[in-house]
Amino acid sequence: MSVALSVPDYREQAPEVAARFTKLKERPVILDVQGLSKTFTAPGRPTTLALSDVSFQVHRRELMCVIGPSGCGKSTLARLVAGLEEPNGGRMLLDGKPIDGPGSDRGMVFQSYTLFPWLTVQKNVEFGLKAQAVEAAERARIAREFLALVKLGGFEDRYPYEISGGMKQRAAIARALAPDPDILLMDEPFGALDAQTRVLLQEELARIVAAAKRTVLFVTHSIEEAVFLADRIVVMSTHPGCVRSIHNVKLPRPRTAKTRSLADFITLTQELWDSLKPQSRDEEENAALRLHT
Ligand code: ADP
Ligand code: MG
Repeated sequence: MSVALSVPDYREQAPEVAARFTKLKERPVILDVQGLSKTFTAPGRPTTLALSDVSFQVHRRELMCVIGPSGCGKSTLARLVAGLEEPNGGRMLLDGKPIDGPGSDRGMVFQSYTLFPWLTVQKNVEFGLKAQAVEAAERARIAREFLALVKLGGFEDRYPYEISGGMKQRAAIARALAPDPDILLMDEPFGALDAQTRVLLQEELARIVAAAKRTVLFVTHSIEEAVFLADRIVVMSTHPGCVRSIHNVKLPRPRTAKTRSLADFITLTQELWDSLKPQSRDEEENAALRLHT
């Protein structure tokens, strides 16, 4: 006897989720990545085609995740959008303007881009505002506001070495948000944290992004992290790094601890695991090689 499942398939969207996607797509495109390619060359080294013809769009207030196996070009993509590298082909438009070098219109939270150790938490958050010539009292006010948002009120005068890894990344989020960027770029921001802190910070980020009404490009190798956070997910494949597919994450918001036990969460996670499996013998051998290097 078959038992009827009461759990809807994730493709059958709840009306509020469908309404959210309709609204999202009506919002203007903030980041438009068009046919982006990037090749690394160095004398005596083999040429690496890190990205090949990568295209996608991120709408205002969308949280877009990018996932893919190690070496597929996720960090290269983040660095290109940040303006830290130049593409060999294609272009990127931020709010309609071509990206040409770094700018305060992008806030960065990278695993490797940490707080300035010689500045207090408060002064770290004020840093970008100072570069924008915001006057001192206003800088202090804005910094305190964002530190409260990331729940670091009371830690303003600590130095980075006096706070935990999780608190450092909260401060880094406050620092990135304070100058009011068009988009927040995050590359494995929670990669160095222990598993429990990582899960907590994912929940915090979902809350912060909703409260601050921000647009985010979030790069991660973790499928669960992407499904938990994203409105949509760009799946990349490797050698060369290109877009394999783009998925809608039709999970309700707010995302909370309960989200992870929803049938739709588990189904989409499994589907993405399957889609990321090496699809050819070459890919399998490359994946095995990477495991050993
Ligand atoms: P991911 O972040 O997805 O792990 P990366 O963007 O770091 O991947 O790297 C993509 C590819 O480009 C890899 O093959 C990597 O070795 C290569 N690569 C990245 N940065 C450089 C660089 N500065 N010089 C040469 N090769 C690079
Ligand atoms: Mg990377």
